[in-house]
Amino acid sequence: MASRLQHAAAGNQSRSAPDDRTGSDRDKGITSLNGRCVPAGSGHKVRTQPCPAPCPMVCLNPGAVGGSNKDVRTKILYIMGSGRSGSTLLDTVLSDQPGMFGAGELCNLLSAMDVRHNYCACGRRSAECPLWLAVRAEWSRSAVTDVAREYPALQRRVERIRNYPRHRGSTSESFTERYLELTRALFAAIANVSGATTIVDSSKGPVRALALSRMHDVDLRVIHLVRDVRGVAYSTGKRFASDPKGGIMSALNGKSSTRTAANWMLVNAVANRVRARLGERATLVRYEDFVTRPAQILRRLSEFSEVDFAATAEKLERGRGFKAGHTIEGNRLRMHDRIELRPDIRWREHMSKTKQSLLPLLTAPVAWGYGYHPR
Ligand SMILES: [Zn+2]
Repeated sequence: MASRLQHAAAGNQSRSAPDDRTGSDRDKGITSLNGRCVPAGSGHKVRTQPCPAPCPMVCLNPGAVGGSNKDVRTKILYIMGSGRSGSTLLDTVLSDQPGMFGAGELCNLLSAMDVRHNYCACGRRSAECPLWLAVRAEWSRSAVTDVAREYPALQRRVERIRNYPRHRGSTSESFTERYLELTRALFAAIANVSGATTIVDSSKGPVRALALSRMHDVDLRVIHLVRDVRGVAYSTGKRFASDPKGGIMSALNGKSSTRTAANWMLVNAVANRVRARLGERATLVRYEDFVTRPAQILRRLSEFSEVDFAATAEKLERGRGFKAGHTIEGNRLRMHDRIELRPDIRWREHMSKTKQSLLPLLTAPVAWGYGYHPR
């Protein structure tokens, strides 16, 4: 709460926003800026220095978006890999410091707001979240188009895994150029509204990573996150009842292990190629290493990304929890009030020994390269 009030105070130095909080609001840690209330814990990052003018918090009022950091080259930390690999966890940890914004699965922004009507990590419906409303307004305004009508079709032609060959050459078709133009505008809108200089996008798709690498005016770093296929299969095999506010919009039937293994191998095989093509702009992280030696992995990611994660590493070593901010889409974990870093290795106890041996064999061409061998 102290940090939030510090932020509001800093913002008020640069732009006077009426403080219409009631005494009880203050007690609850609710900050009101331009008449919009922002509950404590909604995820706005702690700022250790005065906000740029105008304060990005003011930009929560759609239509009042300022260009707070238009001159700063935006950095994108992109998390690539298959589903259930811990990308939401990594997104939340990496974005837990000033100057960072954790977007979650940004590729699903429009469907989350317009189709699925799911909940943002701040607890509001994504279509009612002031931050995403402001981003959407800024994005449409700068792109001079109805993004909801144009962007999804472009995504289908560019980001799908079957579109990998489209990105082989240095030339690109006109729709790819248009996709890049609108994507660039989206990241700029997020940077302007949030005030962040680094955006974490955990969309995961490897072909989207390759497409983003073609935006020459952003600093893209790709983290290829892999998890043992047995852990992934155990996770996808579970059933979940519908719990919209808990991050599950509709009931999930468990998937078969073989189907999960096939998808895991395809996605990671393509991700391996993308990582090889990106060279020093991409790195490999194993989920198992991250959750057991997080400080060590964060030090490596600091060097890789040129973002200092020392404070976050210290927080992890002290056993502190994390809270996602405005993660738009991702694992249900993002809705938790407190996220802790704990290895999820339940598959070792609950998965049959036969399956534990078979899955690494089925995926051997890829899995063994990461050190995932039969037990
Ligand atoms: Zn939100």
